[in-house]
Amino acid sequence: MSRRPLIAGNWKMFGRRRDLAEISALKASLGVLQGVDIVICPPSTLLAAAATIAAPEILVGGQDCRVGIDGAFTGDISASMLADAGASWCIVGHSERRQGYGETSVLVAGKAKAAMDAGLIPIICVGETLEERKAGQTVEVVSRQIRESLPPGAPATTVIAYEPVWAIGTGLTPTLAEIAEIHAAARQALPVDMRVLYGGSVKPGNAAEIFHVEGVDGALVGGASLKAADFAAIILAHPASARR
Ligand code: PEP
Repeated sequence: MSRRPLIAGNWKMFGRRRDLAEISALKASLGVLQGVDIVICPPSTLLAAAATIAAPEILVGGQDCRVGIDGAFTGDISASMLADAGASWCIVGHSERRQGYGETSVLVAGKAKAAMDAGLIPIICVGETLEERKAGQTVEVVSRQIRESLPPGAPATTVIAYEPVWAIGTGLTPTLAEIAEIHAAARQALPVDMRVLYGGSVKPGNAAEIFHVEGVDGALVGGASLKAADFAAIILAHPASARR
């Protein structure tokens, strides 16, 4: 069965209530799209409002969750809370958490399981640092992160996002041949066929060529997902984005 394209936006720690207007504007400029899943992951403070505005064409997700269920964990958020706020997706293992908070793949697998147990679809991020790339370790690192970050029995709905750390927010991207090579290697590490997204400086100007790369099932977009015009241009650059 063919894999349905997915384009997800990660707002990171950006966004106030006034920015919810970007979701309305995105819906207005996209109309009803067939053939592409669209997800926005706003900060948790905006999740419930975003879910209401985005539905039904656009789904929303959290950017992280805690392992396990609710408890006395000040400042944390459980996957079940995200679901209760209207999320149906959750990013886990973003490099800003792996790098900034020392999150290991074992922890990421626990978070992905918590997301799945709460009925959310995890988007599990993997990717090499610049040092690992320079050392020729990209395939090894990405394959290992996939194997260790996927919970046992993860279903085919689970999503992997290949995001080279050095490409995130830098304006740099791998060559198209490199993206194809890493996506092929990532697929070898998967226990079942899953969607593999590319992430890292996807913009309106490079989205189309990236979407045409063999094995790329869509994108995880950071900065360019904050403005409706840019995110809409990226989504419409996908060949599966057919207006009804
Ligand atoms: C991200 O945050 O996942 C990301 C890919 O960011 P950017 O598109 O800004 O590089």
